[in-house]
Amino acid sequence: MSDTLELAKELISRPSVTPEDAGCQALMMERLSALGFDTEPMNFGDTQNFWARHGSEDPLFCFAGHTDVVPPGPEDAWDSPPFEPTIRDGLLYGRGAADMKGSLAAMISATESFVKKHPDHNGSIAYLITSDEEGPATHGTVKVIETLELRDEKIDWCLVGEPSSTEKLADVVKNGRRGSHGCRLVVKGIQGHVAYPHLARNPVHQAMPALAELVAEEWDQGNEFFPPTTFQISNIHAGAGATNVIPGALEVLFNFRFSTETTHEALEQRVQEILDRHGLDYDIEWTLSGPPFLTAAGALLDAAQQAVQEIMGYSTELSTSGGTSDGRFIAPTGAQVLELGPLNATIHKVNECVGVEDLDNLARIYERLLELLLT
Ligand code: ZN
Repeated sequence: MSDTLELAKELISRPSVTPEDAGCQALMMERLSALGFDTEPMNFGDTQNFWARHGSEDPLFCFAGHTDVVPPGPEDAWDSPPFEPTIRDGLLYGRGAADMKGSLAAMISATESFVKKHPDHNGSIAYLITSDEEGPATHGTVKVIETLELRDEKIDWCLVGEPSSTEKLADVVKNGRRGSHGCRLVVKGIQGHVAYPHLARNPVHQAMPALAELVAEEWDQGNEFFPPTTFQISNIHAGAGATNVIPGALEVLFNFRFSTETTHEALEQRVQEILDRHGLDYDIEWTLSGPPFLTAAGALLDAAQQAVQEIMGYSTELSTSGGTSDGRFIAPTGAQVLELGPLNATIHKVNECVGVEDLDNLARIYERLLELLLT
């Protein structure tokens, strides 16, 4: 059995549902310490994180990722128990196999092989690992980054091991992510009897034209790297539960996935202009999950494209699609950030799996990346 496979199995057998780590990080730190890394637990609240570094010079290359996994759901829906790593037909099954314990195992074996061959490599290698990526993500990567910023420790290149591939290993590298901006809007009316509408003010009637305008609005046209910004209503609610009562308020939840052509401030302003133009009386509450980020060009992107071409024999496609990831906390420091990991077809599903051969190839890609950047 390959080193990568063996470690992936060890990690999967630890049931680290968010924010639990279940000993995954101790195992990783032990392997890195043995290689000469300085390892540093950075725990906040109920979240375990660690930072580890080999070398003290710039540039600093960092592997980033998470040991936590989403809950397995009903165990009897799985063909084999979610926390018992099982190989069938060349695939390794278990919760976290693809998201992202397989990547963590590939990072460690790539690093071990690289450091043994190049003990005096250029620059430094670091690990930034959290156990709260799948959850609220408040005490994880964001806190570690704050700590690093305070002591002026800067990441130049960051490889996040999120499962980026779609059809075959490394066919897609994520070189950015759209921003996510959420909103809770309450349109205020006056409750009353439907038979006496002149004594009430119906927030449903008032809000509808404004909401229709928001839905029809073109926010931007996107750019070379990003699709156009999207607006989606995710929840709408009003009413007292009776047909004869005009409701006193209407609540709407909506979300923007936005490109680098706009900002969250600009979106807020445009929404409020539309609401005001329709003369609505409202309360509004915004929650920014993360601004968009983009790694457009540079040494990290070049090295990743070259490594995939050499190891896999095909070229990789750049993409900014998909949900948010912890890259959103790392990119604002000025780091170049890429996501490169296994196939994402089964993530968060029952029977999550990763190709056994893909694990070894991913480790080879990661090692080649280290060689291209640090030797
Ligand atoms: Zn993940």
